[in-house]
Amino acid sequence: MNEIEELKEMFKDNIKFNEPMRNHTTFKIGGPAEIFIQAKTEEEVKKVLEKSRKIKKNVFIIGNGSNILVHDEGINGIVLKICIKEIEIEENQDVDVTVKVGAGVKNAELAQKLLKKGIKGFEFASGVPGTIGGAIYMNAGAYGEEFKNIVQNVTYMNKEGKIHTIKNEDCKFGYRNSIFTSGNFIILSAVLKLERGNIVEIEKRMKELANLRKEKQPIEYPSAGSTFKRGDGFITAKLIDDCGLKGYKIGGAQISTKHAGFIVNVGNATAKDVLDLVKYTQNKVYEKYGKNIALEFKVI
Ligand SMILES: Cc1cc2nc3c(=O)[nH]c(=O)nc-3n(C[C@H](O)[C@H](O)[C@H](O)COP(=O)(O)OP(=O)(O)OC[C@H]3O[C@@H](n4cnc5c(N)ncnc54)[C@H](O)[C@@H]3O)c2cc1C
Repeated sequence: MNEIEELKEMFKDNIKFNEPMRNHTTFKIGGPAEIFIQAKTEEEVKKVLEKSRKIKKNVFIIGNGSNILVHDEGINGIVLKICIKEIEIEENQDVDVTVKVGAGVKNAELAQKLLKKGIKGFEFASGVPGTIGGAIYMNAGAYGEEFKNIVQNVTYMNKEGKIHTIKNEDCKFGYRNSIFTSGNFIILSAVLKLERGNIVEIEKRMKELANLRKEKQPIEYPSAGSTFKRGDGFITAKLIDDCGLKGYKIGGAQISTKHAGFIVNVGNATAKDVLDLVKYTQNKVYEKYGKNIALEFKVI
């Protein structure tokens, strides 16, 4: 059996060839992945890394695909979706609660579980449509909170398949980045430090934040969240709005009419449409305000 046959045997329904990435991104954009694998355990992740070395294919990691734009030509190599889903909640008599969570758990799933148990501190992340792995990679944040504030430690695998655990201080969390942003490590799980709370209050906060998102963000259209990073001393979305770009369209990509900070896919947008619109927006903002605005989502 050759290496590819072995991968097929091992992953059965969880391996696909020429799999359209638009099925795996919240932007609903992206050409085919040569090989697409969903790994449910650390062992499976290790096996994929081993095989990738033998068949000399690059490995691209994804979580929920909510912060990536995949090129129309697709991806040569292996796209490895991390689907490690264990959740272990350590409850004792203290106020503090530690939660060990697999990198493939979606924030919304974890938020619901914590709500049921009356554990607070994760409400801010309940509406971030990614996985724990993607959130730690980006140090995702919302409404004044970020993952940096709740991570105790992170367990990751390096490209050689070795597993390490590092403490929060060593994760080098910054604004929408961390030590993991280099792309050299695969996050497997994390321990979060949360607190015992009141179910009614937790639910109220989650609803408040969900309503705010609904009101302010174009969640009715596919997107990858905020297109650009926060500016240094300026609000990027406001500059885009002040350039009169709300509603501006290239192909199927549009600067949202609801929130200028989002590019949305209003109908069969290609990655090229999005990237052309990004460039156009960056040029307009630079011409009018002399400010460079940097992309927030990752282009693969
Ligand atoms: C409607 C909408 C609203 C959003 N709101 C917010 C918000 O309020 N705050 C915010 O911060 N973001 C927001 N985002 C962006 C996005 O949801 C977050 O960045 C999220 O954390 C990405 O997680 P993911 O699992 O989807 O990662 P992906 O998009 O799959 O991947 C993003 C990056 O993380 C890497 N990665 C993913 N998993 C792992 C892993 N296990 N190990 C190593 N690397 C990994 C990938 O290689 C990639 O480079 C929003 C997006 C949308 C569509």
